[in-house]
Amino acid sequence: MRTVPLHIGILGAGVSGMTAAWLLQHDHQVTLIEKAPRPGGHVETLPITVDGHTVHAELGPRFFFDTAYPYFLALLRLLAVPIRWSDARVSFTDVARRHTTVLPPRSPRHVASLLRSPRLVRHVLSLRRLINEQPAVAATRDFSRTLRQHLATGGYPASFGPEFVYPFLAACWGAPLDRLPEFPVYSLLKGMPSGKKPGFYEIDGGMGRYVQAFADELRKVDIRLGAGARSVDRHHDGFSVEDERGKRHGFDRLIVATSARDAAHLLRGVPAAVEMQAVVGSFSHFETEIAIHGDASFMPTDRRDWSHNNLFLEGETAWMSDWQGPRDGVPVIRSWLPKGRPLPRPLYGRRSFHHLMMSPENAVLQRRIAALQGHSGLWVTGMYAVDVDNHESALLSALVPAHALAPASQNLARLIAAVAPDALHRLEVLPALLPPPPASEGDHAFSLPTVPSGP
Ligand SMILES: Cc1cc2nc3c(=O)[nH]c(=O)nc-3n(C[C@H](O)[C@H](O)[C@H](O)COP(=O)(O)OP(=O)(O)OC[C@H]3O[C@@H](n4cnc5c(N)ncnc54)[C@H](O)[C@@H]3O)c2cc1C
Repeated sequence: MRTVPLHIGILGAGVSGMTAAWLLQHDHQVTLIEKAPRPGGHVETLPITVDGHTVHAELGPRFFFDTAYPYFLALLRLLAVPIRWSDARVSFTDVARRHTTVLPPRSPRHVASLLRSPRLVRHVLSLRRLINEQPAVAATRDFSRTLRQHLATGGYPASFGPEFVYPFLAACWGAPLDRLPEFPVYSLLKGMPSGKKPGFYEIDGGMGRYVQAFADELRKVDIRLGAGARSVDRHHDGFSVEDERGKRHGFDRLIVATSARDAAHLLRGVPAAVEMQAVVGSFSHFETEIAIHGDASFMPTDRRDWSHNNLFLEGETAWMSDWQGPRDGVPVIRSWLPKGRPLPRPLYGRRSFHHLMMSPENAVLQRRIAALQGHSGLWVTGMYAVDVDNHESALLSALVPAHALAPASQNLARLIAAVAPDALHRLEVLPALLPPPPASEGDHAFSLPTVPSGP
């Protein structure tokens, strides 16, 4: 059997929209509509040259690891995008105590500084124990257990959370410190490098290089950049999307590949999408601002403590500066800006985001999304729609409409075949790879037309 070619509209060219387009392009006519003038969504790489050295600074996603990113790593292999590994180096500064801990310690000075406080040593050992729990916690896929509950029942010292790991992890995620204890321990641990091999991959040339390679593969896709969708209507025979230039596009099927917040906005007032609109509108977000700069006052006071990830606990806020140039010492720094602090100088780039808030309810919402996918010919994709809120999830979310609309997709087969055999997860992290809903569901249902494949 092969699928009858349909005209499929995809709204949003972040990794989830691009993946959906890449998976569907050989089986259907695909139009990808993106509000921004470039594809990539959250991915945005700025080449910054200082003293003759060029650093590819990331305003958005930067980190991915060997464990939790098997499909993303498979995609990079297929795109022949070169990656390199860096061992993790972290500093944690408690501003009130004027103390910086460097992990792992890199010099006798770092070791001495750590050993001066038995309490700090206990926290560091607890952190190691927590990270070593990653494989077991990831295997549970249990979003309902919060970090606070996990520490309380796991015999961790009572001070470990408030004094150390809550600010440590809130800074890693740029997340609000007061909300962090209620984040699912599953999401937090799965989003970290493994204890066995602490570190991360980087793409030579930055994440923008992979987005460009990916966009180059969308040869059969009609890509419309710089004019987002303004409104969506559902008619008896499909969807009508009006873009910001007033142009109308007709589609047989629609994939909304924006953030949950933007999807809720787009689907407002679409009678056939009332339930989906309510579900995607139930996710919460926090505002965050990223700056790329060369301001050493956003780093540990002693330059010998500068690490890849420099975490700070400052009053009620936890924040991070990651140093993009440890290989060559170039002072190009990325900071998740703490509120109320003057902007760093020199400032090379700046961008605001609304970032998904991790919550135990997200798993419930994901199951509801899974049950609604495909109804009335509508799908939603994005990092919020499946598993934890990262690049891998955004990519994986696109497999759901691809599986329903083009089960024999050649790129779907290539991607699945390229996944390493020892991957931390496979497709079981998708709440459901649902077949199209049964036709008995009346107007809200459609069945995917198929025709016998020719000789
Ligand atoms: C600052 C920051 C750092 C991050 N770091 C990491 C990291 O290190 N590792 C990691 O794994 N993840 C990271 N993430 C998570 C990141 O969001 C995901 O990795 C992933 O890039 C999200 O992809 P997406 O396709 O779901 O959404 P997005 O990338 O947000 O794409 C959605 C697209 O929809 C478009 N759009 C919105 N409205 C419309 C409309 N009306 N019409 C048309 N288009 C529209 C937007 O312009 C955007 O291009 C980070 C996120 C942020 C904000």
